[in-house]
Amino acid sequence: MKSREQTITRTLLVWHRSNKKTFPWRVNPNPYRVLVAEFFLQRTPADRVAKFYPSFITRFPTPEKLASADLTQLEQISRPMGLKKRLPWIVSAVKTICQKYGGNVPNNRDELMQLPGVGSYTASAILCFGFRRDIPIVDTNVVRVLTRIFDLPKSCGVNNDDIKKISQKLVPKGRAATYHEALLDFALMVCKKRPLCDVCPLVRLCKYPLKMLSDKQ
Ligand code: SF4
Repeated sequence: MKSREQTITRTLLVWHRSNKKTFPWRVNPNPYRVLVAEFFLQRTPADRVAKFYPSFITRFPTPEKLASADLTQLEQISRPMGLKKRLPWIVSAVKTICQKYGGNVPNNRDELMQLPGVGSYTASAILCFGFRRDIPIVDTNVVRVLTRIFDLPKSCGVNNDDIKKISQKLVPKGRAATYHEALLDFALMVCKKRPLCDVCPLVRLCKYPLKMLSDKQ
């Protein structure tokens, strides 16, 4: 018999087959391409990044190319993205990757988190999407979805122990990247700030609609 977590994961994967967002960084991902995308996505909406990312990654397809780029030229190219603060971090991170790791993004959380501008979420995303490892990814959107489904306090943050445990249990073996794409798209399209419970494939597995009903009574 399937556990509740397995049923939720399975339902999300099935939902995603016909609701997948086709972002360019999801095509032929590798650790470097994921790292660049995650830097851009830290403060810029995905739709805007999607317009800019393909030309940037074509122009700088490897850490070496980006590390040796002229900074003034880079600033001009990336002006539409508003990367002013993040640009020196990206350049510094890829320079470290070239100098310290021979041009290979490290496949290790501690080493990733020593790169400028790489925090816990970005490190997890690189390990999961770039290296295809079964690593849970938790951001505030994921927390919103999980606190609703599992009836956890709204005050839970990304480092909450229950959130961490549940996130780990939900990751399907060997399919973490696909599952997280599904979960992130689901948070963006269905379980938004104002959730669309009426059309939600998880409605029978989620405690939130009943809670809302009893709160109103
Ligand atoms: S039923 Fe509503 S609150 Fe629960 S997961 Fe679906 S959209 Fe989110």
